[in-house]
Amino acid sequence: MPELRVCALYPDLMNIYADRGNLLVLERRCRWRGIDFSVTGSGLGDRLDPDVADLFYIGGGQDRDQTLCARDMAEIKRDALHAAAARGAVILAVCGGYQLLGHSYQLGEETLPGVGLVDLITVRSDAPRLIGNAAIEVELEPGAPRVLAGFENHGGRTRLGAGATPLGRLLRGHGNNGEDGHEGVRRGNVIGTYLHGPLLPKNVWFADWLIRAALGLGEPLAPLDDRLEAAAHAEARQAAGV
Ligand code: GLN
Repeated sequence: MPELRVCALYPDLMNIYADRGNLLVLERRCRWRGIDFSVTGSGLGDRLDPDVADLFYIGGGQDRDQTLCARDMAEIKRDALHAAAARGAVILAVCGGYQLLGHSYQLGEETLPGVGLVDLITVRSDAPRLIGNAAIEVELEPGAPRVLAGFENHGGRTRLGAGATPLGRLLRGHGNNGEDGHEGVRRGNVIGTYLHGPLLPKNVWFADWLIRAALGLGEPLAPLDDRLEAAAHAEARQAAGV
């Protein structure tokens, strides 16, 4: 039986807006299909084995917690994350976690290091936080646009470098910086987004895409009875006005 192995980075510190719910969705959707599932955690000070998981996950966090994690991630886990990404593991990062995937997160006088997996920088602004329901159009498979809907709340403004591709195009909401109409980042199986909700219960099609990508499956996953999940998605889109 195939198994999806997930490693959650800083599960106690980086988990706001119930971001851990994303892991529950991955677990259920695997088990309902007879795919085994296991999750391990990697916290402050823990060395990371790049082969320990098929999917590495990091949720959102307050600036205070992020400061601790940023240093740890850059000093102790950086090389392992690069090695994992290079072999095609999925890395999914939400909000505060997303900000740490880039080159740096500037917080006032302090500039926190990122792990440099994607070409972007984030600067904490004193301007009003970017808050609200949001929806984006993403095209993970060429020619097949889909919608992700969720909720964002961040003070940081993220700007992608010339070499980076956004995860999606904003339909509603503020996205990376409230200015350029972009949301998130994608480099192969490395994905960052500001969307909480948590994200996956509201967008189970994306959970399934992640499972397939992480396991390297060519075949589509077996369909599930997604009536409740479809209603959750519709409601999230409606909340965003899409
Ligand atoms: N602390 C970060 C910010 O405010 C991220 C917040 C979050 O994860 N929601 O920009």
